[in-house]
Amino acid sequence: MRKKIVAGNWKMNKTLDEALSLTSEVVHMINDEVLGDVEVVLCVPSLYLTTLSKYVENAPKIILGAQNCHEKASGAFTGEISAPMLKAIGIPYVILGHSERRQYFAETGAQLAAKVDSALENGLTPIFCCGESLEQRQNEDFIEVVKTQISESLFHLSAEQLQAVVIAYEPIWAIGTGLTASAEQAQDMHAALRAHLAGKYGQAVADSISILYGGSVGAGNAAELFACPDVDGGLVGGASLKSRDFTEIVKARQ
Ligand code: 13P
Repeated sequence: MRKKIVAGNWKMNKTLDEALSLTSEVVHMINDEVLGDVEVVLCVPSLYLTTLSKYVENAPKIILGAQNCHEKASGAFTGEISAPMLKAIGIPYVILGHSERRQYFAETGAQLAAKVDSALENGLTPIFCCGESLEQRQNEDFIEVVKTQISESLFHLSAEQLQAVVIAYEPIWAIGTGLTASAEQAQDMHAALRAHLAGKYGQAVADSISILYGGSVGAGNAAELFACPDVDGGLVGGASLKSRDFTEIVKARQ
C-alpha cells in the first residue's frame, strides 16, 4: 500500500505570528479522526522549522518539511541551508525541484540529482517536483518532458533509494492560476510516470512510490483528484494557507 500524503507548501508566506496561528489551527482541526491513514506534511519557511517543531510534536502524523536545500553539506554558500542542517533539527521532508526553484533559481536536472542524493544521505524524504509548462503542454510530447525530468534527477538512484522518494506532479500552468488539471489529465500523467518508473525499476517498486498532484488543489476539487487510482495525495499551495480549506483537503484524501 502506498502512503497517502497531503503536503502544504506555504512558499514565502506568513510572518512568525501568522505561522504559529496557522499551525495551531491545523493541529487542532486535523485530529486523528480527520487524519485516518493520511500523513500531513507542512512545508514551511525554513526560518520557522525549529519553533514549529514544538507545535507539532504531539501530533505524530503532522510532520514538517523544508522547501529546498543545497546539494552540498556545508560551505561558502551564503543564504543557503543544507540537508545535514535539516536532519540535525529533526526535519523529515524536503521539497526539491519545485517549478519556482527551477524557473527563478535556474535549478537544473543534474543539480536536483545532487540535491536528492544529499537529502537521501541525510535520511530526508525528498518530495521531488516535476511538471510541464503551458507551452510544453501544447506540444504532443509533453508527457516525455516530465518523464525526462524524472530520469534526469532520479534514475541514478538504486531501487531502495527511489523508494524513499515521493514524487509530486505539478503542471506549471495549474500552479496558483485557479486552473486545475482535470482528474483525467492528472490520472493520465500519473499513470504514465508510474509506467516510466516501472520500466526502469519494475512494477513492484513503481507501485510503492507515492505520486502527489499539485496545482490549484482546493476543498472543492480535492476529492475528485484523489479518487484517481494513481493520485496518492496532494501538494497544496494557496489552500494550505487556510486551515479550514487545508483540513477539507486532508479529509478528502482519507
Ligand atoms: P497552488 O496550490 O497555489 O496552485 O500551488 C501549488 C504548488 O505550487 C504547490 O507546491
